[in-house]
This record gives sequence, structure tokens and C-alpha cells, in this order.
Amino acid sequence: MVVEAEQLNGRVAIVTGSTSGIGWGIARALARSGSAVMLNGFGDPATVEALRLGLENEFKVPVRHHGADVADPQAVAAMVAAAVAEFGGLDILVNNAGLQHVARLTEFPLERWERIIAVNLSGVFYGMRYALPVMEERGWGRIVNIASAHGLVASGSKVAYVAAKHGVVGATKVAAIEAADSGVTVNAICPGWVLTPLVARQLEERAEAAGTSIEEAKRQMLAETQPLSRFTTPEQVGELTVFLCGPQAATITGAALPIDGGWVAH
Ligand code: NAD
Repeated sequence: MVVEAEQLNGRVAIVTGSTSGIGWGIARALARSGSAVMLNGFGDPATVEALRLGLENEFKVPVRHHGADVADPQAVAAMVAAAVAEFGGLDILVNNAGLQHVARLTEFPLERWERIIAVNLSGVFYGMRYALPVMEERGWGRIVNIASAHGLVASGSKVAYVAAKHGVVGATKVAAIEAADSGVTVNAICPGWVLTPLVARQLEERAEAAGTSIEEAKRQMLAETQPLSRFTTPEQVGELTVFLCGPQAATITGAALPIDGGWVAH
């Protein structure tokens, strides 16, 4: 199906964790499709401002940045309020911010467990908690939660991430059921491996532990889980997000859509 370049003209979107990686790919795809964008995420102020301005100039849509820590419910509420105040409403929320930590369960640092659950799971709840009423009142909305293949299946040494992402898929279904017939759809996207800073760190650790090159670590990473031996790109996750925000997807809700090179198929 062809996704029209301007199909989101006049829409307003928040994309959490969009100063890097997949979130940046999603923010770009939404802006290219005509949506105003509230960026969110960490980074040094000059770099973040350059991203914001670059997006605004390239796609001629208004772009702002809000620095909310998604693990802080008051900050998330303030970000939603800021989007409404700045752009006059909120149509699209992409809950994308997320962290990873790799360690066996018996050695998993308690502080990492708390933080990953707070950002990857509670952050998604807070976003939906404060955005849904705005969307339901307007009678239209799209919530896209970036879960993971790890929202559907597990791997060792990722207990907090896998628990949080399974939780995101569950919370997505609850929100979809509650919002049904309000004009708001709620879906999860479940990417396989995407080559972002989050994965680059894991590749470095793997290469060092195994005494191999980064290229060999990449090959092994893909071979372990994906029948299709290619990384998904942030742009591809962005295009799937735009599709879910368009009129074609009006009856897709409560779904957890893999974009994972066949990872969860086997
Ligand atoms: P990344 O590290 O490149 O980007 C993470 C972004 O989240 C950054 O902009 C960062 O500033 C922001 N962020 C981190 N903590 C935050 C917080 N508390 N509040 C607000 N923003 C915060 O990571 P990525 O690979 O692009 O991952 C994005 C999402 O995609 C995550 O939810 C991740 O779990 C998911 N995902 C990634 C992959 C992959 O292979 N890279 C696969 C499946 C799912």
C-alpha cells in the first residue's frame, strides 16, 4: 500500500526518545508526512537544537523539543500539556524511549531493574494515561508503542527489558480495548535488531567478550535470532508508524506488529 507523503498534514505528534536511533527515524517519517512534531529525549542542548531546527527546515513543519524524563509522570503530563498549548492539540503519541541492560538474572543490578521498568514500561503507561483523554475528547488519535521482538519472546540476560516489553504489549491491548470506538487506535510495533546506539553498545560488548570484530559480532547477533540476516532500519520503523497513523489503519488496534526479519516466526 502506498503511504502518501502528506497524509498526516496538520496532525500533531509527540515522539518520546527521539533524539537518537529509532525515535529519530520515526520523528523524521512523521515530519515528512506533514505532522508537527514534539521531539523528546536527552542530549546536549546544542545537538538537540540542531536536530530540531534541521527537521523543521527540511520538512517545513513546526518542531519543538521537550526534555521530559518519561519515568517522571509529572514531566510526561507537562509534555502533553506543552504539545497542546504549542500546537493546539495532540493526535499522535509514539512511546519509544527505552533502555537496555544485559546481565544474568541472578546478577542483575537492582537499580537497573528499577530504571528499565520505570522508563520502558511505566513511561509508556504515563504517556497513554495523559494523552488518551486529549485524543478521546477530539475523537481521533493514534498511539504507537515501540515494544520489541522481546515483547513477544525472550532471550537470556535481558530480564528487565523482556519483562517491560511484554508489559508494553499487554498495556497496549488494554488501552486499545478501552479506546475502541472513540476514534483512537493503540498498537505496538515489535522491531527485531535495529542498528542504533543501543545495539552498538551490545555489539561492542559481544565483540570484546568473544575477541572478534564488530562485523563478526553483527553477523552472530543476527544469526542467533533472525532468519533474515539484515538489520531493520529506523526509517522502516518510521514508515510503519506513519502507516499506522493513516486512514488505511483505522481498524488496526490492539495489535503487536513484528518488523523483525522473521525473529518471532521461528
Ligand atoms: P537509542 O539508545 O538510540 O535511543 C533512545 C532514546 O531514548 C534517546 O533519544 C534517549 O535520549 C531517549 N531516552 C532514554 N531514556 C529516556 C527517558 N527516561 N526519558 C526520555 N527519553 C529517554 O535506542 P533505540 O535503539 O533507538 O531504541 C528506541 C526504542 O526502540 C527503545 O524502546 C528500544 O527498546 C526499542 N527497540 C530497539 C531495538 C533495536 O534493535 N535497536 C529493537 C527493538 C526495540
